[in-house]
Formats: sequence, C-alpha cells, structure tokens
Amino acid sequence: WTASSLSVVVLGASGDLAKKKIFPALFSLYYEGLLPENFQVFGYARSKMTDAEFRDMITSTLTCRVNARERCAEAQERFLKRCFYQAGPYDEPGGFQALSTRLGEQEAVKPRANRMFFLSIPPNVFLSATGNAADHARSKSGWTRVIVEKPFGRDSASSAELGRGLAQHLAEDEIYRIDHYLGKELIENLTVLRFSNRVFEPLWSRQYIRNVQIIFSENFGTEGRGGYFDQYGIIRDVIQNHLLQIVALFAMEQPVSLDAEDIRNEKVKVLRSMKVVAPEDVVMGQYRARGKLPGYLDDKTVPEGSLTPTFAAIAMFINNHRWDGVPFLFKAGKALHKRYAEIRVQFRHVPGNLYRDKQGADPDAACNELVIRIQPKEAIYLKINNKVPGLGLRLEQTRLDLQYQQQYQVELPDAYERLLLDVVNGDKRLFIRYDELQAAWDLYTPVLHELERSQAAPELYPYGSRGPLGAHYLAARHNVRWGDLADDADDE
Ligand code: NAP
Repeated sequence: WTASSLSVVVLGASGDLAKKKIFPALFSLYYEGLLPENFQVFGYARSKMTDAEFRDMITSTLTCRVNARERCAEAQERFLKRCFYQAGPYDEPGGFQALSTRLGEQEAVKPRANRMFFLSIPPNVFLSATGNAADHARSKSGWTRVIVEKPFGRDSASSAELGRGLAQHLAEDEIYRIDHYLGKELIENLTVLRFSNRVFEPLWSRQYIRNVQIIFSENFGTEGRGGYFDQYGIIRDVIQNHLLQIVALFAMEQPVSLDAEDIRNEKVKVLRSMKVVAPEDVVMGQYRARGKLPGYLDDKTVPEGSLTPTFAAIAMFINNHRWDGVPFLFKAGKALHKRYAEIRVQFRHVPGNLYRDKQGADPDAACNELVIRIQPKEAIYLKINNKVPGLGLRLEQTRLDLQYQQQYQVELPDAYERLLLDVVNGDKRLFIRYDELQAAWDLYTPVLHELERSQAAPELYPYGSRGPLGAHYLAARHNVRWGDLADDADDE
C-alpha cells in the first residue's frame, strides 16, 4: 500500500447516486482509515464545475457516524482537499485524456498508481464512457477496476451485448458489477448463519422448509423520478437482480472456500437449476391514487397509460435435490404500506403434533418461521411455540429474537462502503460474474417479453396498501400464506 496510490474516478459525479451514496461512502472509508494514504477522488461529468464548486457540492453529502462526530469536521476538510473535478463528455476521448493527465499529476509521487472508475451514468452512455475510460485513462503502472451499476441490460440479448461491449475494453477481472443488496449486512451474514451454525444447515432443504419468501416493500412511489423506472419496471429493477441474488446465496451448496470464484460457482448452479418463470407464475400490480397520494400515472415523468408494473409477486422453483417443490415466493412493490425488506423461511408442520389442540384453531400459526430482516431495524428471529407460563397447558408462538440495534449498538456501514472497499481490495465475492448475470436474465427474459407482447394490464392497488389481491391468490395456489401479514405490531 505504501508504494501505491489510489485514484477513484466517479463518472456522472454530478448525479443523484454519486451524491447520495458514492461520495458519502468514500468519505466514511477515508475516515475509518481504510483507504491508502495516497488517495484521491476525481469527479467527472459533462456539467461545468471548478474543483472548489465540486467540493462545495459534495460537502453537504458527507456525514459521520453518530459515535464518530468529534473529529468529523477536520476529517471532512482533509478529505475535500483530495477531491478534484474534470468536466468532459462521455463519448469522446478528449475529456478522458485530460482526466488522465490530471490524474497523473496527482499520482506522480508513487511508482504504482491504481485507478478505480465508478460508472454512475445512465445506460445510454455506459459503453462509450467505459471504452474511453479504459482506452484513454487506464492506469499504466497499476491496476484498473471499473464498477458498473445496474441496469445490466433489459433482457438476455441486451445484457450479452453490453457484456461484449465491456469485454472489448476490459478483462472480466477488471469489471465489478455491483448489486448493492449483496453489500447489506444481513445478506453477507446469510452464509455465516448457514455454514457456521450446526442448527440451521441440516434443516435447510425441502425436507423441513415449506416455502421461502423474499419481500421488498417501499412506502413511496416514483415521486417525479418515474422516467427511468418506467423503462424497466419492478421485475427488472428489483426482482431479477437483488431478490434473485438473495435466493442464489440462500439456496446454494456449501462452497469449497470463501474465495469469490468458489462462491460464485455455487450461485450460478442455483440459478441454472431454477425453473424459467412463466406468465402464470407472475402477478403484476400498479399503484393508483388514494386521497391526496398520487397514483403512478399521475407522475408527470411517466408516459400516459403506462402498463409498467410497480408491484410484482412471483413464484419460482429450484429443480434440484435439495429444493425440489419448495416455492420461493418474491414480492416487491412501490407505494405499499411499509418500507422493509426481509427473508421469511416457513417450516413444515410438526408431524403427529402432541399439542395440536393447545395451539388454537389455525395450524399454520404454529409453524416455525425464521425471519431475516434486511432493513430497516436489522434482525434475525425464529418463531417458536412455547408454553404460556403458569398453571394449565396452553401454547403460544413467541420469538427467539436477535435485534441488531440492541445487541450490537453500532451503526452499520452502508452497502456502498463495504462494496467500494472490496473493489479497493480486489475482492469479488459480492459482485456479479458475467455467467451469473446471464443465467439470471435467462430465467426472466421469456416472461418479460411475453408480458410486453401481450400488453398485460397490471392490477391496480391503492397507494399505501399491501398490494393487489392477486398476490394472495398466487401464494394460495402454492399453499402458502405471506408471512408478513400475520406479523406483530412491534415490527412497525
Ligand atoms: P442520474 O442522476 O440521472 O445521472 C448521473 C449523471 O449522468 C448526471 O448527473 C448527468 O451528468 C449524466 N447524465 C444524465 N443523463 C444523461 C444523458 N442522457 N446522457 C449523458 N449523460 C447523462 O443517474 P443516477 O441516479 O445518479 O444513477 C447513475 C447510475 O446508477 C444509473 O445507471 C442508474 O440506473 C444507476 N442506479 C442509480 C440508483 C440511484 O439510487 N440513483 C440506484 C441504483 C442504480 P452530466 O450532465 O453532468 O454529465
């Protein structure tokens, strides 16, 4: 580290993602002392800005963790001195050549200059910007790594085209496809939970697990940013990538080691064992106005009469020895009643249950359920049946409960912090490999094309509700009840 410098170049530095996530994450890493001593940030975008204006722009985005506020202002000052800006187009070499010269001036003191590019730009300029960065601003003395954000195409063919385009300028080991869900604390913990505890792994199969639910719920709509969303819809925006990645990690066999290639080999096997999604496996919804809360079509940035789904529930199956017949149910939506994301593992009924008549009328309510709450208020809890204390014999369902806030009392790092640090360290465990991406698209491309061809209309649901009724019928068809509906008031 002492012999090398690190330049982080954010393409699209004037944009939303850069301000919201990337600069704050870089500052946190800097503050925690996790970046090389000789480190600098370069913003690059078409907007004209001086270094001073750029620093002003990012100042307001930098925050410190609650327990680290003391030295914060001084650290921000030092961080900002390492921030520079270069204006230029994405589709011409000139700007990138100028950028490379300026990078060189800052890097001159070290023999090895590593360069990391974050592509925080819209898909229409992805390829030209990558090509120019790789051809005209790549490092000559150290490594070059390029972080790519979703969307990775919109189906198998466009994703393959993007893949071929990137491969013309970069080797696969230089490309880091980010899925920020993989950087979340509880998703990283999934494999720890399974493979380091003797109590879970033996139960992790069709023999004991009745169904698995992966739920992503937002309590806000597109709110004037529907232009991008409308071209993709909730299936491409959330399910085909984030939620499917969670299932791959959840369901994979134990990898040979914790090396990136070993883990990704196992994930690809899960994806390739999955049944391709069919139209009857999908329920689509779109939120409508409720009172003063606007409907999706009221968003001025959404095309009139759009059929894009803002909600989807999908049933998937993994056709392998471990999971045959177990429904994996996805539910994702905008403008729902609550903001949260979780995994719910519902276990089978207790065979020959001695206590059947002590547990109330609903046998489903007595099934064990493991809940992994990804956000907010991260938690892992297992619902168990317990005797109500006192005389008599009555059972109730209660929880073995791990609430992160109470247990650890630390502010968890943002997913982008973890992922950016992994790129600095060359650790690809949490990034998507090309074959993994293609396997994921192959599962969804036929149904996406069919839904678009047939102009299938989504079922309307009111803003702030639990989504369309169709989601319940889909679950019922697979003998499943959504676990979140029954859950306790203290989750609110
Ligand atoms: P953005 O704000 O719309 O765009 C980023 C920057 O790109 C803009 O500041 C603009 O900079 C430039 N740009 C915008 N439209 C352009 C166009 N038509 N042609 C050329 N340049 C254009 O995007 P973002 O929300 O920051 O997202 C960046 C990338 O991350 C996108 O690929 C997005 O899909 C992905 N992403 C975003 C989020 C999020 O939370 N925002 C989450 C996940 C993934 P200049 O005009 O100054 O060049």
